[in-house]
Amino acid sequence: MDKRTTTILTRITPSAKIDRARHGWRAKCLQRLIRMELPVPASFALPHAVVQMIASGQAVDLDPLNTLFAQEDGLVSVRPSAMNPEWGGPGTVLNVGINDATHDRLAKRIGQDNADAIYLSFVQSYAINIARLDPDMFSQSGKNALAEALRNYRDEMDESFPQEPERQLAGVLRSMSRAWDGPTARLLRQAKGAPADAPLGLVVQQMRLALGPGLCGSGTIQFTDSVTGEPRVTGRFRGQKHGETVGAGAETLFLTRDERGISLEETAPEIFADLVRFGVAARERLREEMQIEFMVTNGQISLIDALRVPRSSRAAVRIAVALARDGVIPREEAVMRVEPRALTDLLHHQIDPRGKRDVIIRGINASPGAATGKIVLSAAAAQASAARGEPCVLVRRETLPEDIRGMHASVAVLTERGGMTSHAAVLARGLGLPCIVGASGLNIDLRNRSVTVGRLVLNEGDEITIDGSSGDVLAGAPPMLEPALDDAFNQLLEWADAVSDMDVRANADTPEDARTARKFEARGIGLCRTEHMFFESERLHAMREMIFADNAEDRKLALDRILPMQRKDFTDLFEIMAGLPVTIRLFDPPLHEFLPHDRTGLRELAETLDLPLSTVVRRVEALSEFNPMLGMRGVRLGIAVPEIYEMQARAIFEATIDASRKGAVVVPEIMIPLVSAMREVELVQNRVDAVAAAVRNDRHANFTYRLGVMVETPRAALRAGDIAAHSAFLSFGTNDLTQMTYGLSRDDAGRFMGIYVQQQVYSEDPFHILDQEGVGELLLIGAERARRKCPDITVAVCGEHGGNPESIAFCHEAGFDYISCSSFRVPIARLAAAQASI
Ligand code: PEP
Ligand code: MG
Repeated sequence: MDKRTTTILTRITPSAKIDRARHGWRAKCLQRLIRMELPVPASFALPHAVVQMIASGQAVDLDPLNTLFAQEDGLVSVRPSAMNPEWGGPGTVLNVGINDATHDRLAKRIGQDNADAIYLSFVQSYAINIARLDPDMFSQSGKNALAEALRNYRDEMDESFPQEPERQLAGVLRSMSRAWDGPTARLLRQAKGAPADAPLGLVVQQMRLALGPGLCGSGTIQFTDSVTGEPRVTGRFRGQKHGETVGAGAETLFLTRDERGISLEETAPEIFADLVRFGVAARERLREEMQIEFMVTNGQISLIDALRVPRSSRAAVRIAVALARDGVIPREEAVMRVEPRALTDLLHHQIDPRGKRDVIIRGINASPGAATGKIVLSAAAAQASAARGEPCVLVRRETLPEDIRGMHASVAVLTERGGMTSHAAVLARGLGLPCIVGASGLNIDLRNRSVTVGRLVLNEGDEITIDGSSGDVLAGAPPMLEPALDDAFNQLLEWADAVSDMDVRANADTPEDARTARKFEARGIGLCRTEHMFFESERLHAMREMIFADNAEDRKLALDRILPMQRKDFTDLFEIMAGLPVTIRLFDPPLHEFLPHDRTGLRELAETLDLPLSTVVRRVEALSEFNPMLGMRGVRLGIAVPEIYEMQARAIFEATIDASRKGAVVVPEIMIPLVSAMREVELVQNRVDAVAAAVRNDRHANFTYRLGVMVETPRAALRAGDIAAHSAFLSFGTNDLTQMTYGLSRDDAGRFMGIYVQQQVYSEDPFHILDQEGVGELLLIGAERARRKCPDITVAVCGEHGGNPESIAFCHEAGFDYISCSSFRVPIARLAAAQASI
């Protein structure tokens, strides 16, 4: 054996040079167990470079492994050892090295049947996976199965089953290394974040027998519950079970004392005590909750593997916090260990992962959490259902302002159309309601009050469950887990805030939203969409009266009705936020969202406004636009009909005075939407200043305020330098900015987004994950130009992307002052901001 080849295989000893990047996580983990002097059978690590050599057909020297085959039982296992356990790998192969001679020896020690079963299982797996023979010829079982399998092998290969352990091993290694490079394996691991050329190491380990005399068997043990994260011993032990081979007298034992049956704790207390001791030591040394895989051979334990305990989101939070509290890991590490998105599962009800899922249809997971209710097909039916105390799910083609009442009365929302930023999606996230949109296989039949999905017909009143976290609609009522806003959750976020250097604010429109924002410890409101204050029925009428006014006098009357409502809204928000900054966006109503869409709606409106139907129809036609999202929205309305913004400015300033008299001093932030030219800002600024002067005069009071601009057109980003000269802050509205940068309708993109992502035209839905290359560049250009002109200007993001961990990292990197997202995403954003800061 030459010198070069001796280094390719490393026996895992306490001092061996084993590193994760070359040998993989499993090899490194086994070394740690060995260093702790735990009873790990002899193990060898093959680094990635060797695995690649084997895959490309080069012969490598496996001599050092001969010592393993020379042992009495002479069997080894081969396990994958990727850099990251999440990346998976080819399945473990057991019992490598068995041949006629070993088989005879085993038969004497553990009985003929057991020995036959072990040999048969290896011959079958070798024939199928290594020799690539037809699986149908190797599915035999029963008395003569082994002889038949060996005969079939010989007939097909024109040679006997290989008897040299080294040759068997070389074949197994080659097949595992090639499996890693297969296209399916690549795709699967890339979906889990692995790079295309992720390395694979392999571990060859001496095998112990878990069949035979005395206490024999195999099992796993962990000390934390995988679903709840509570400390609890779980796992199982199977007596007389060796890999897939089950011997005579096999039985399953509970680990701890259990009324349902016998336990290892009672049968073999010393083995149980050892396992507990190993578990405690592994937690401290490996700084992680581990699941230990072990074997017992005639009363002797071997630890053959250890894995991070698989865990739900709730368990992940509890485990990280417990490890930090016990001083096993520092607090920052606990903060880094929890995936921010995982917090979503703790904020809402969740379908118990242990239950069965009867999925009817899938859509876009627009707002997380799960809820069960009876199908209702209209807002009125939802309200009636709520009045009866029956939880209901509002199912609509898409939602309109009228539906907001129905949404309030429902426990979840499902729509056939729409994307991540459609009306239903944005509102549901704000309300914390589970919501699925764009479930395009859904067919709503209003006449028969039913919904069809393929051949399945569901009637109004049938029970369904919306899993807004996954996008699955389920039949019936699966078991649920309660939200877990517990001590561990709060502790983790407290540690996160302590290291974070970017603020997180909430997008909050109503007092209820603001209270949620406070509950989740947002550092202020970064976006109050004032038009959302008008979705309730009485207010909707006032708003429509204002929209329908066709002369200044009528409009003034309508605005006079609205002013006190707005003043009260703002006073409430200021009081709840207790001096924290509150950014109020002036009206940005896409008018079509406030107009009736069908005959019934038009008739109802005519009745409420006391106008002839024909007048209403004419006015709706006059106001209708071909492309309302690019029409008379935002500042355009503010400039065309200045009284609206003047009314809002007055309401804000009067509320500022009222709230400041009662509590903390309020410095309101007024934000102008959909700006594309500096002159728009100047015009609004002049009018708002004039209103401020008038209110100071009328109320004999003083106050200050900050006026800022929402950057949501590409032009505003490009001209941010000019615009900054008139602004105390700029907040990027990445929903509209994405829409306009791509020329992609927020409301209609759902129809083809799936196809686009599937065919990798876009790597992700850009309304969901910020497009850093395109829209992101506009953010950087805008921020840089604004800061060059006005170094002290505040720069922020308040589009839906503000709640997205990758986008938060991007904004942190660009030095943004804060991000603002839906109240229910604030905890996720706080954790993501902290991780970006560490
Ligand atoms: C935006 O466009 O990003 C935004 C926050 O405003 P809206 O979603 O209300 O248009
Ligand atoms: Mg916008």
